Formats: sequence, C-alpha cells, structure tokens
Amino acid sequence: MPTNLRFRRRSFLGLLFLFSLSTSVLYFIYSAPGIVNEYVFMVQARGIQIRENMKNIGAQVLEQVVRGAYSINGTDYSYDFNVSESDAPPPTYLPEGFTYLPSQVCPEKLPSMKGRLEVNMSEVSLEEVERFLLEGEPSIALGGHWKPEDCLPRWKVAILIPFRNRLEHLPILLRHLVPVLQKQRLQFAFYVIEQGGTEPFNRAMLFNVGYKEAMKDLNWDCLIFHDVDHLMENDRNYYGCTDMPRHFAVRLDKYSYMLPYNEFFGGVSGLTVKQFKKINGFPNAFWGWGGEDDDLWNRVQYANYTVSRPHGEHGRYMSIPHHHRGEAQFLGRYSLLRHSRERQRVDGLNNLNYSPQLSRRPLYTNITVSLSRKLAPIADY
Ligand code: UDP
Ligand code: BGC
Ligand code: MN
Repeated sequence: MPTNLRFRRRSFLGLLFLFSLSTSVLYFIYSAPGIVNEYVFMVQARGIQIRENMKNIGAQVLEQVVRGAYSINGTDYSYDFNVSESDAPPPTYLPEGFTYLPSQVCPEKLPSMKGRLEVNMSEVSLEEVERFLLEGEPSIALGGHWKPEDCLPRWKVAILIPFRNRLEHLPILLRHLVPVLQKQRLQFAFYVIEQGGTEPFNRAMLFNVGYKEAMKDLNWDCLIFHDVDHLMENDRNYYGCTDMPRHFAVRLDKYSYMLPYNEFFGGVSGLTVKQFKKINGFPNAFWGWGGEDDDLWNRVQYANYTVSRPHGEHGRYMSIPHHHRGEAQFLGRYSLLRHSRERQRVDGLNNLNYSPQLSRRPLYTNITVSLSRKLAPIADY
C-alpha cells in the first residue's frame, strides 16, 4: 500500500476512534443517572476491596516489623513469597478410567481429584448436612468414620478441629470437606474439640487434647489440624501426610492469596503421629489469639524437619468471613516464642491433664473440655 494511503487510512481510524470515545463519554455523562450510580458504586466497591487487601497486607508488614524487633530465635523473618513446591511443575494425575484393585494401596493422584472446587459458604444446619451426606454415602459411620472399599487407604487421617462459638461454620466445613476426602480415598474421622469455661481460647491445647482422645479411638497415622473456617479451593490439596510436617493453607483469600511470611504455619497443617510425638505436640501456654502456630513451626525446625507445602494453586483456601467471632490477641506471644526451644521439652503432650466429655454425632466426635492454666503446669526451663 502506498505510504500516503496508509497514512490516510490510519488518520481515518484515529478519527473514528476519537469519535467513538467521545460519544461513549457523552453517552455515559448524559445517560440515565442509574448507570452513573452503578459506575460510582463499582468504583467504590473496588476501593473497599483494595482497602481491605491493603489492610491485610499492612497487618502482615507490621507483623514483620514486630517480629524483626523481637528477633524471634534470631531468625530473619522476612517476606518470602517462594513457596516450596510452587515452582515445581504440577504433578501428573492418573487418567480418567484408571483402575486399581481393592488389595492395592489407593493412589495419591487419583483421576477423581479434578482440581478447582466450588466453594459454597451458604449457611446450612448440621442436621441438613448429616442427612445430605449420609444419603449419598450411608457407609459413613458414627463419628464421621469412613474408609474406601475399592482400595487400601494410604493414610488413616484424624481431622482435628478446635472449636468454640462458631456453630455456623462447622456444617459448612463438613459439607465441603467430607466429599473431598472421599475422592482422595483416605480413611478419616472428624474430632471437634470444644473449649468450655471462660478462659481465653487455647487452640493449641485443644489440638493436644484432640490428638490424645483420637488415638484412643483408632490407631491414626496422620493428623490434620484444621481451622473450622477454612475451605480448600482445590481437591488436589491431598490431606495425607508426608515425610515432613506439612503446611496446607498456603494461600488464603484474606491474605490476597499470598503467604504472609515464610514461617507461617497457621490455618491447616498436618503431621504424622510419629512427627507430632517427636516435637512434644503443640505448646499449652498460648492463651488467646496468635503465636501457637509459630511455636509449632519452631518445634518442627528444632526437630530438624523442614515444612513441605502443596503446589501453588493447590494450597488456596477461602475462609468464612461471617460469624467470625474472634479472640483477643495474646500479646505475650513474642516473648514466649523467644524460648520455644527450651519450652518444647516441658510444655506439650507431656505436661497435659484434662477431663473430657465425649459425645458422638453422625459426622464427628465432640470432645468438650474445660481448660485452665493449672492443667498444664510448666517446669522451670
Ligand atoms: N476458634 C473458635 N472459636 C474462637 C476462636 C477460634 O472456634 O472463639 C477456632 C476456629 O477453629 C478458628 C480457629 O480457632 O478457625 C482460629 O481462630 P480464628 O479464626 O479466630 O483465627 P484467624 O482466622 O483470625 O487467624
Ligand atoms: C500470629 C499467628 C498468625 C499470623 C497470621 C501472627 O502474628 O502469631 O498466630 O497465624 O500472625 O495471622
Ligand atoms: Mn479464622
């Protein structure tokens, strides 16, 4: 095409573009106020979303500063978005129609594990979920015990859930998680450990109680420590254990799907029974919100383990924002964390006394326990 023709064509296109832009702008300005309002609302909503994200990120940056100031265990707590395994290529999954025998150990990367999940956060009653799940799978036994019939489960997994005053969350979690664990062909049961009494919430001590009680029920080999409000977004996030302690909840919506700090070990984590015993369980000394997961991280490091994490997208979670009744922060956590190593020997599974009340529900065992400081006396360290 001759140059002048090309030039004329370009300027024509340019004019056309300017014309359509100005008519759109005019249309937008003079059109029905409803559209303008809608636009303003969208901008505002986006602003709120961005502000929320910034608040969470801001809180995490502050976290880093505080951690730096306390120099917990001399560790350099810096932002590190390099999540182990996330750079590795995604593992290969077995093809559709792949068959296995009842005498074989269930595969880990089953074709039934399809990836991205729908997350349903709508409220539902426990009775409704019990009815719905048992209709589909009558082989779920009292306490939520289930195991596959078409292969030998690779792991016997106890799912432990610390609990107080979050009634709305539990049925939402069970409705979401039970079918996933079945697809993953794991043997499992649920234990909800409910804190009674008026002391501040103690998530870690509840996990220790849950572990001890679950082991009386069955010879579990894998323990999953699961917040009641965390819903996985990908069914390839396999809830079996690994040769290293595992952190499952890597990318949370509330942290804009980023790991808040490299040593973050909260939300959902898992250890084999052997690993859990070796580290003397969780600490009992963290009353109120925060720190107990960081102490578990330290314990794992001192036992010479390294934490494994699921592949990038697999570690995504949404957490239920409504009815999220929080606890007051435990401000003493940083000074306790400075002595994780010494405390590890004297505070954990080995200094814990309690009197639980057990009751079985169709989908879980409820362990109610009233907690107080005198139940876990700490020897000098
Ligand atoms: N939790 C609970 N009741 C409470 C506080 C905590 O049941 O009053 C349990 C629940 O399983 C929850 C977990 O402990 O998911 C972690 O607490 P929270 O959700 O308050 O922590 P955050 O999401 O703020 O880190
Ligand atoms: C707390 C942890 C918590 C993390 C992320 C830290 O300050 O000590 O318990 O998981 O923040 O919210
Ligand atoms: Mn939460």
